[in-house]
Amino acid sequence: MALLEGKVAIITGSGNGIGRAHALLFAREGASVVVNDVGGARDGSGGGGESPADAVVKEIEQAGGKAVASHDSVATAEGAAAIVARAVSAFGKVDVLVNNAGILRDKTFLKMDEAMWDSVVAVHLKGTFLCSQAFVKQAIAQGEDRGGARARIVNTTSVSGMMGNFGQSNYAAAKAGIYGLTRTMSIELQKHRITVNALAPIAKTRMTEDLPMMQGVETMTPEHISPAALFLASDLCADRTGHVLAVAGARMYAFKVIETPGKFKDEAQGVWTPQEIAEHWDAIVKP
Ligand code: NAD
Repeated sequence: MALLEGKVAIITGSGNGIGRAHALLFAREGASVVVNDVGGARDGSGGGGESPADAVVKEIEQAGGKAVASHDSVATAEGAAAIVARAVSAFGKVDVLVNNAGILRDKTFLKMDEAMWDSVVAVHLKGTFLCSQAFVKQAIAQGEDRGGARARIVNTTSVSGMMGNFGQSNYAAAKAGIYGLTRTMSIELQKHRITVNALAPIAKTRMTEDLPMMQGVETMTPEHISPAALFLASDLCADRTGHVLAVAGARMYAFKVIETPGKFKDEAQGVWTPQEIAEHWDAIVKP
């Protein structure tokens, strides 16, 4: 049986790139898909009205699948509510949310201005929060018999957020925030049996096509990423939550934050001094 037979999946930012590949695969696997996208340029400018979401819906329908378009922005509470409402009015319920929408406004830290910071954090971090909250409220309201207890959230973080990256203080902070949000939601939503995981993809899209690492590369496509999103969205992932699954071409791996065992000081000797920290640095940070 197809992995998402009978499920309703919302995929934000699925008019282009990785989200589009998710939408096409999810529809082939039996999901009814809400293809959400505001349209617009890579930096989030322009857009509104007709969007690439309509073209993806057409592609899905031509292949015999079910989909509707949503043109609302993930970055406002009204937009997030409208995206979830679109799923309910078209298909009667929600089962899966993939928070994928994203923009880039790169500048080195000292040149980063407030508007660049706010717009990137609004789409990635606030958008993930707002869409997830609207989705979870709907999933819980549906109850066990209508799929609520099997709901899945797939967030989208980035190597940049997990490791840092030159010129991306706004984007890296937003993506690191999505990591913390994913961990916290996974803990809080366990009682509803809702899983919350994140993907950290690397693929050649309009977001990355001008990076030196992507030149001449044809083996890192959005289609390499989407099976991981499908896994996290499916019943195969029922017992796994709070993970970051990373994909780059044929490589499937994971990001984890580690806590080192550290070093204890005898309480009778008083608190650590800065000089002692310097002296024992290697033992303190050793994994
Ligand atoms: P993309 O630009 O092709 O797709 C992003 C889509 O999001 C666009 O269609 C855009 O219109 C849409 N969008 C932007 N703002 C929106 C909003 N407010 N509401 C709804 N839709 C909105 O980029 P992509 O490479 O496919 O990126 C998809 C996701 O993967 C992003 O979250 C990105 O940060 C993440 N990511 C990508 C890579 C990569 O290598 N391509 C690496 C790490 C993370």
